[in-house]
Amino acid sequence: MKITRVTATNLSFEARAAAGGLGGEGAEATCFVAVETDEGITGYGQTGITQTEIVAACVNHVLSHVVVGQNPLDVENIGHLMYWAANPWGQTGYASHAAAAIDVALWDIKGKMFGQPVWRLLGGARNRLPIYITFGAERLDLKGAVDVAKEIVAKGFSRLKMRVGRPGLSRRTTRPAMDDIVSADIARIAAVREAIGPDVGFALDAGNRLDYPNAIRLAKEAEHYNIAFFEEPITQNDPALMAQMRRMCRVPLAAGQNEGLPFRFKQLLVAEAVDYAQPNIAICSGLTSALKVAGMAAAFNVPISNGGGHAPHNAHLQAGVINGTMVESHVGGFGAYEHLYEGLPIVKDGWLELSERPGFGLTPDLERVKAAAGKY
Ligand SMILES: [Mg+2]
Repeated sequence: MKITRVTATNLSFEARAAAGGLGGEGAEATCFVAVETDEGITGYGQTGITQTEIVAACVNHVLSHVVVGQNPLDVENIGHLMYWAANPWGQTGYASHAAAAIDVALWDIKGKMFGQPVWRLLGGARNRLPIYITFGAERLDLKGAVDVAKEIVAKGFSRLKMRVGRPGLSRRTTRPAMDDIVSADIARIAAVREAIGPDVGFALDAGNRLDYPNAIRLAKEAEHYNIAFFEEPITQNDPALMAQMRRMCRVPLAAGQNEGLPFRFKQLLVAEAVDYAQPNIAICSGLTSALKVAGMAAAFNVPISNGGGHAPHNAHLQAGVINGTMVESHVGGFGAYEHLYEGLPIVKDGWLELSERPGFGLTPDLERVKAAAGKY
């Protein structure tokens, strides 16, 4: 079997926020990739959380040249070719997203060829996973955060994660002081915990936006509210500072959703900086690389988890390997998938169940892909 064509399309569309039926409409952007073969099997992949137009250009104008003509089952060889095509001088960045979208499509082909779901090809550790719902846009005030949290729980979800530390360091010259941002967060954490009661899993995510002193302050306060984990508390996922923080605080730490190469996880694991490693298959150069991260984490007795969404894809990694744990859906995250695909995993009572459909089990609506193409 040979790959005959690789095409990336930058998509932009309005999607219903459909995490269990929550929320309204929202703008979504994603880079959608199709890998065609001479045996009629087409694999589909996608990536996001970055400038998808640039990523699509990287797929179409750089990576496709080394991928076309290869056997799609040779994911190690193709990963090697893509790495050296895009990173000949050891760069990191957008290219990892582009490689990820292609690699995900290759695993989709592999599953379709063998007539098996990806989660089983990886090892079939389980086919059901707990799902947690992420909420907390910058615009949400204290009452808004409480209302959304209560709404999520009322929909049957028993795990949620709130964004904190926004806008944090990203606009420190023009927005409130860091200590004011953290004070507002602490008030929201207390109010949400009181509203949802003691039994609901409650995690935090600073998205790399805090400096060390403010991250420590927030984590110390969070200790009073039974926080399940604190994701990406410190800017740039600094391994030494996170390790120091982990020794000082009782809140478990998680990181890695936007790391593009496995070596960054080696740094986090060797430094003992994380309780959960979070390789995202749509970002970390693909499932082939994320699997290596999962193996590294297993050797350190560290579980992996899903940050950065793309739950219907990432669920396969989390379900496939024994140190997988759970998947994330944003309020709105599933809406983007529902807009583009048929065959989504079933989400019920706070659990996500994967099907026996081959590959990732997702069938894109190519008319909708066409309709959303190229807009920004
Ligand atoms: Mg995150």
